[in-house]
Amino acid sequence: MKLTDRINAIKPSPTLAITMKANALRAEGRDIIGFGAGEPDFDTPDNVKQAAIRAIEAGFTKYTPVGGIDELKDAIIGKLERDNGLSYNRTQIAVSCGAKHTLYNLAQVLFEEGDEVIIPSPYWVSYPDIVILTGAKPVILETKSSEGFKIQPAHLEAAIGERTRAVIINSPSNPSGVAYSPAEMEKLANVLVGKGVLVISDDIYEKILYDGMPFANVPSVCPAMKDLTVVVNGLSKSHAMTGWRIGYAAGPADIIAAVTKLQSQNTSNPNSIAQKASVEALNGDQAVVITMVREFEKRRNVIVERLNAIPGITCMAPQGAFYVFPSIAGLLGRKQGGKVLTTSADWAAYLLEEANVAVIPGGEFGHDDHLRLSYATSMANIEKGLDRIHAAVMKSK
Ligand code: PMP
Ligand code: GLU
Repeated sequence: MKLTDRINAIKPSPTLAITMKANALRAEGRDIIGFGAGEPDFDTPDNVKQAAIRAIEAGFTKYTPVGGIDELKDAIIGKLERDNGLSYNRTQIAVSCGAKHTLYNLAQVLFEEGDEVIIPSPYWVSYPDIVILTGAKPVILETKSSEGFKIQPAHLEAAIGERTRAVIINSPSNPSGVAYSPAEMEKLANVLVGKGVLVISDDIYEKILYDGMPFANVPSVCPAMKDLTVVVNGLSKSHAMTGWRIGYAAGPADIIAAVTKLQSQNTSNPNSIAQKASVEALNGDQAVVITMVREFEKRRNVIVERLNAIPGITCMAPQGAFYVFPSIAGLLGRKQGGKVLTTSADWAAYLLEEANVAVIPGGEFGHDDHLRLSYATSMANIEKGLDRIHAAVMKSK
């Protein structure tokens, strides 16, 4: 069947594909340890589940306003004010079916052929494809591990050209776990002031920060950029609600109106029950979030230590999110079973075959000499998985 050039220009999400493959192997009886999925292994908090049950029992099971119910918009407005010191009104909020959908909608209403969108690398796998689908060009701004994978303000400045429409900033970052301090974020924001470049601030890992690090995004440190920023966030990571599919955008009313119009012609409203559950997630007790982050921090410490103990692997300690992005530069070119393992994909395939461990090749995030491991899995799995990776590496020559 003839398919459009548009759809042929993108690839399936590799993070989801590898996670599905690991699940399929498990279903066949293989004892796979998954470091693939970027998904909290915790259950959705009980108060959130109860709110959803109440919504069903009350018959809150019909279409809602396209961009979300006022009650949820108000909960989001409250959260942005409380956590980020940012004021919005209901016309500046659109709720969608997950932050991925929010990003997709934003790209569709903001970018087109001839536009360039700056995407710092390592980047989350879906950003380039979401941009490509609009006809715009992703411009990859490479950050170096020697610079802690942080965008250097001068490099950002140099990447901005006449066609630059937007830059996507994701702190804490998937996959590197790097987070910008308020002072660092301010330096980036200062580069952007007066340039007319939009910021898409993907704050999905906002709550998952370690070592007491405060969260910062561009509009919170640089009010002059607020009207040129769209904040993207959601409940998937902060409240272990990946399956509920709620994400949102906060930004200029004209952009939000366009997103809502687009959504009225594709998904209509996000799920009514999940919206009620999200109101509880945002307004209810946040103790569960704190417990989850404490546990992630313990796991981070263990996984970083275990990775650095493997000859050929070096791993920075991430400041947030639940990923590590170790360098495997010291392993590329090694041989195993007559095959030369030259790329991160070769290494990921080898680890799956040899060690029954699923990881994501760094090439998918723009850095082929790295791997991404999600430590949103139990400490026991981390220990066992790292034993296996260590043994598989020692076996290669
Ligand atoms: N942004 C980043 C950086 C992500 O890692 C993800 C993956 N979950 C998303 C956005 C989308 O999350 P969701 O669609 O589950 O809200
Ligand atoms: N964002 C998560 C990840 O990077 C979930 C999968 C996806 O949406 O890509 O693994």
